[in-house]
Amino acid sequence: MAEKITTAANPLKEYLADPFLDRLYCEIRRAGPLKSVSVDITQVCNLRCIGCYFFAEKMNRHEPENEAALDGFIEREKARGTNFVTVVGGEPSLVLHRLKKIYENFCMNVATNGLCRIPYQGFENMPIGISVWGDRQTDQKLRGGDKVSVFPKALDHYKGDPRAFWYYTVVPGKADEIESVVEQCVANGNYVLFNFYGDVGGFGGCLDHRQGFAAARKEIRRMIARYPQRILITSYLSKVVSTGRLYDETWGYDVCTSISSDNEANQERIKNGKPYNPHFRAYNADFATTRRCCTGKDRDCSSCFDVWEHFSWIMLNMRRHLGSKQEFTNWLTTMYLFYLINRIIDFENGVRLLPEIHRRTGGLHQDEELEEHPVGFRPAVAAQGSTP
Ligand code: SF4
Ligand code: SF4
Repeated sequence: MAEKITTAANPLKEYLADPFLDRLYCEIRRAGPLKSVSVDITQVCNLRCIGCYFFAEKMNRHEPENEAALDGFIEREKARGTNFVTVVGGEPSLVLHRLKKIYENFCMNVATNGLCRIPYQGFENMPIGISVWGDRQTDQKLRGGDKVSVFPKALDHYKGDPRAFWYYTVVPGKADEIESVVEQCVANGNYVLFNFYGDVGGFGGCLDHRQGFAAARKEIRRMIARYPQRILITSYLSKVVSTGRLYDETWGYDVCTSISSDNEANQERIKNGKPYNPHFRAYNADFATTRRCCTGKDRDCSSCFDVWEHFSWIMLNMRRHLGSKQEFTNWLTTMYLFYLINRIIDFENGVRLLPEIHRRTGGLHQDEELEEHPVGFRPAVAAQGSTP
């Protein structure tokens, strides 16, 4: 079945005649546009993971002058109109007093390694992404220095916790572990979002991202089909992140939308005409200075498979997705998942739509051919642009 390419003068109107798409679109519109930043909330961490860009690039040299530095940051960002903060680090659970201040002032999410539990009381509706990099042995080796069993401890800390989703960074040569990891996360009562490992340290072997993620992608698709109500990534998004392809573009610095707009390092990039997020800044742990982007200052962009940055890449390229209803669905469901995971829209109602979202983005088909079709990287028929 060939994909129907629209010739409508107003394709959006045509696509939104579908009540399901209209529902997703209206929810996002009601929530309003996001003005986002990311911040390292501390320079301290209780792990030293293999391939952590934070320590690889010595970002831990930034620290706040005093606790009041965070208060100043919050006031400045509120005055600038910021309404969403991604909290990274360092390990945010080690500075709960700071985390609480961010939570009380912005929509936000936090990435944690799960070794220390973020308490429920006082953080009731916080989206908590818990990192895992593979099954117990792999995770212990990569993250626990072969001594600390991080994954079982984190499972224990977030058992049945409605705030928790696993931020599962898939190691390219360890696709065979995906099923077991997902089974454990789902049995723990949590959701799963996938990320993809970039071999920042150049270790090679199973860590080498240059071998591609085809096997991982296939497994992720199987997990979507098996747990459509628990997986927070679509087949489409998974493919964009893991292949680095969006229509005729290839992922890299020239097209990356998650760059600090105020940072001198990005002024040439901003002039190239590709979409970027003009509000976004990636703040260091001093709560004052910014760096090129949230995942590093000097990082080689070819090793960057961060799912949040790819969310943004798709989200800011709405007009490229207007060529057909399927393409628009791919865009809209990506937007919706971002708002949903981050609880900018009602989470409990939204997750009930996950099976239908996966059905419409090809995730419930086991056949590679069927999965390829809706992702279709044919050149865009419309000019690129930003979100509506
Ligand atoms: S837990 Fe995060 S910040 Fe800490 S070493 Fe691991 S990847 Fe780096
Ligand atoms: S490392 Fe990733 S997020 Fe940073 S500029 Fe490169 S592509 Fe963008």
